[in-house]
Amino acid sequence: MLIGHLGVSGLAHRYLKADLVPVLIAGVIPDVVDKTLCYGLRLAPSGRMWGHTLLGLTLSTGVVWLLWGRRTAWSWAVGYLGHLVADLGGQIPWFYPFVQYDFPPSRGFWEMLLHKLQHPAEIALELVLLVWAGLAIGNRGLGISNRGLGISHWGLGIGRR
Ligand SMILES: [Zn+2]
Repeated sequence: MLIGHLGVSGLAHRYLKADLVPVLIAGVIPDVVDKTLCYGLRLAPSGRMWGHTLLGLTLSTGVVWLLWGRRTAWSWAVGYLGHLVADLGGQIPWFYPFVQYDFPPSRGFWEMLLHKLQHPAEIALELVLLVWAGLAIGNRGLGISNRGLGISHWGLGIGRR
């Protein structure tokens, strides 16, 4: 769920020195892509498909590298991989489309929400991760004084790389 992924990205920012903006975006992009394709556009049978693959990680990291440079691409890859690892409780089609996977029909949004509410330990774990990340970043500040938020790397790809 979103809060857990944001927590993992926040911890990656704090402890792996990933730039905040790309690690946060990459930390949710697999779900944004796949949930949109599945629930929004009904073009995919599962909410974990193209965005939850090593191909998605590799291609998106390559695009980020070309547009914003190596450091931002590294931060992106850390956030993206963190998302996939955090999802390990369920099926991750790591090698799709090179390996075929059974994609069981995904639960609808309300069914997923109900499932979450019936498993408070999962919600608690995600909240712990988010609070831990918030405290870890808060204690250190956002690093604005020494490294910034990584926003400078997210310009138009002109100049700094
Ligand atoms: Zn996911």
